[in-house]
Amino acid sequence: MNFLRQKGKKMSKSRRLICLIGLFLLTSCGNINSSHSVNKAPKNIILIIGDGMGPTHISAYRYLTEHKSGSTQTVFDKFKLGTASTFPADNTLVTDSAAAATALATGIKTYNGAIAVDKQQNHLTTLFEIAKQHNKQTGLAVTSDIAHATPASFYSHQQRRKQKNEIANWLVDNQTSKQPIVDVILGGGKFFMKRSDRDLIAELQAKGYSYTDNMAQLAQLTKPALGIFHSIGFPSALDSDTQRLSQMTDTALNLLKNSEQGFVLLVEGSQIDWCGHQNDIACLLAEMADFANAIDTAYQFASQRDDTLIVITADHETGGLALASQGKYLWKVDEVAKISMTTKTMAAKVKQGNDLATLLSQHTPFTYSEQEIAQAQSYSHLATEPFALHITKLINKKSNTGFSTTGHSATDVQVFSYGTGSEHFTGFMDNTDIAKKLIQFVKQ
Ligand SMILES: [Zn+2]
Repeated sequence: MNFLRQKGKKMSKSRRLICLIGLFLLTSCGNINSSHSVNKAPKNIILIIGDGMGPTHISAYRYLTEHKSGSTQTVFDKFKLGTASTFPADNTLVTDSAAAATALATGIKTYNGAIAVDKQQNHLTTLFEIAKQHNKQTGLAVTSDIAHATPASFYSHQQRRKQKNEIANWLVDNQTSKQPIVDVILGGGKFFMKRSDRDLIAELQAKGYSYTDNMAQLAQLTKPALGIFHSIGFPSALDSDTQRLSQMTDTALNLLKNSEQGFVLLVEGSQIDWCGHQNDIACLLAEMADFANAIDTAYQFASQRDDTLIVITADHETGGLALASQGKYLWKVDEVAKISMTTKTMAAKVKQGNDLATLLSQHTPFTYSEQEIAQAQSYSHLATEPFALHITKLINKKSNTGFSTTGHSATDVQVFSYGTGSEHFTGFMDNTDIAKKLIQFVKQ
C-alpha cells in the first residue's frame, strides 16, 4: 500500500511536470498563433455575397448536392461559420439590398433604397474607396447589372437605388489619382453603360480599360478591365449555365493577383434573390450551384496562399423559404432536381403563344389536372413576372416547397470565412461588424 501510495505521489509529481510543460507549450503555441493569424491583416480580401441567401437556401443546396452526387459535403463546409443580423436603420427589421449592401460596404446602417449614403443622405466612405486610399486594387464580379444595389454600394453614392444611370456614372467619375476606383468591372448592364447622354464604356476605354462584351474572351482582358455582357442581368442559371460567376471570379482573381499592395474583390451571386422573389425553387437552386462554383474558384485561389481572406455572407434572406409545406412531412428534392426551366421563361413563352401544359410536361416531373393548368393559364393576361408566380404556385404545391413572401425576410444570414483573419468572423455579429472588420484590415 505504502509503495503504491508513494508511486502514486511520484506519478502525480511527474504528471504535474508534464502538465506544466504542456501548459507552457500551449501558451507559447497560442502566442505564435495569435501573432501569425489574429494580428495579421490579410493582403487580399474576397467578399462574396449571395443576394437573398438565407440558412434554408444552404440546406436546400445540400439536399440537392446529396441527391445528385451522394455526398452531403458542400463547398460551404470548408469555411468557419458565423451568423449576422441584417435589419436596416428603421423599425421594420426587414432590409432591402441597398441598405444591406451599404452596411456591408461602409459599416453604417441606413434606410432601404440608400446607396452608400446615411439617413441624412451624407456620402459614406466605402470599403473600395478606403482600399484605393491604401493602394489596393479593387474588382467586381456580379451576375446582375453592374449598377444594381449591391455592387453600386461599393463604388457610388445615391439617394435612391433606382437612379441607375447616375449610379453607373460613378464607375467613371469616382476617381483616385485621376483613375476610376474599380480596376476590374465584370457584370451585366450595357443598358446603363452605353446611353445617348454618356457612353461609359467608351469613357472607361479612354481611361485605359480593356473591354469585352463576350464571355468567351474573358481571358483576353488586361487590367484595368471592363466586361459588360448583357443589356441588364445575365440569363438565369437554370436557363443558361452554372459557370458564369465562377468564370468571372477566375478572371478577376487572375487580373488582381499580382497587385503589389493586395486587392479587395466583391463577388455577388445576384440572382439567388431574383429567384426568391419569384418563389421559384429550381431557379434558386441553379443560382446556388452557380454561386457555389464561384466560391470554389475563390477557395482554390486562397488555399494556395497565406495572405488572403474570404468572407461569404448574404445581404438578407428572400422568400421566407421552407423545405416543406401544406402540413406534410416531405420535401421532394428528387423532383425539384428534374425541373429544367424557370417559371419566368415558361410564362414568357406562354405569352408568345406556347402551350402551358406542354411546357410543364417537358420541364417538370409532375402531373397536373386540366383544372390546375386552366387556373394557372387564366392569369396569362398579367405581366410575365406576376403570371409566372401562378405557375410557380402550382409547381411548389407538387414539390411541397414553401415560401412565406415574395419579398425579403428578417431572418439572420450566415457568415462563412476562410484564410488570414477568418477567426474574426465566427459567432454572432451584425452586418455592419463585417464591414468594420474588413475596413480595419484594409487600413492596417
Ligand atoms: Zn430582393
